[in-house]
Amino acid sequence: MMRRFKADLHVHTCLSPCADLEMTPSAIISAAVERGIDIIAITDHNSAENVIAAKKAAEDTSVTVLAGMEITSVEEAHVLALMEDVEGIMKIQDVVYENLTPGENIPPLPPFDKGKPGGFFQVVVNEKDEVLDFNKRLLIGATSLSVQEILNTIHLLGGLAVASHIDREAFGIISQLGFIPRDMKLDALELSPNTGMEKARRLFGEYGSFTWITSSDAHCLRDLGRRTTGFFMKQPTLEEMILAFKNIDGRKTEWGRE
Ligand SMILES: [Zn+2]
Ligand SMILES: [Zn+2]
Repeated sequence: MMRRFKADLHVHTCLSPCADLEMTPSAIISAAVERGIDIIAITDHNSAENVIAAKKAAEDTSVTVLAGMEITSVEEAHVLALMEDVEGIMKIQDVVYENLTPGENIPPLPPFDKGKPGGFFQVVVNEKDEVLDFNKRLLIGATSLSVQEILNTIHLLGGLAVASHIDREAFGIISQLGFIPRDMKLDALELSPNTGMEKARRLFGEYGSFTWITSSDAHCLRDLGRRTTGFFMKQPTLEEMILAFKNIDGRKTEWGRE
């Protein structure tokens, strides 16, 4: 039977250098359960090392976790990769790591800026919040992959590719490329919480042929689920979401289609 699933497909964990330390996979899942979110995608910058913990933390809960990543292209545009399973996202991670700006992430010494509790440390944890590692790569940097190469990699591995926050003045595909080529194989465009539907139509109406979604881009627990997209489908699987993104067989996304 078809039903509506509430999805937040852009969530950072404590692995992202710009996210709060409170964003552990277990805390994210608890908050998602409380807020009635059915599907989340873990999308850390250029890494997927906390996806396993999030999937484990979600076992025996109502929340489905997609294996995701927010990849920075050579043009400094952010692209979300959404995969069903850990193996798929790990293959993408291999490609991203091979092409990531070399260098080491060096966290600041205490005292830390009070306005930024945690962050910088790129913490890899398990589902019980135990620290497994600190990722030393420059995850905040860009890869040497073009947007097109990123899309090809994601699609070759059976994933969905979404242009992140196209309304932002930095790190969005429009801010970085100037426009979205019509033939670009993006499965969806994401609008940030700063842009409502009316404003989106006014600013981005020319891209109406693409599927539009909206998500939280949460870097702290408070923001989780502040924007979500409804998916009408039978199961909370990537396979069903692919149909919903394409508006096939009665599956559809709610945002941007009414
Ligand atoms: Zn981003
Ligand atoms: Zn993000």
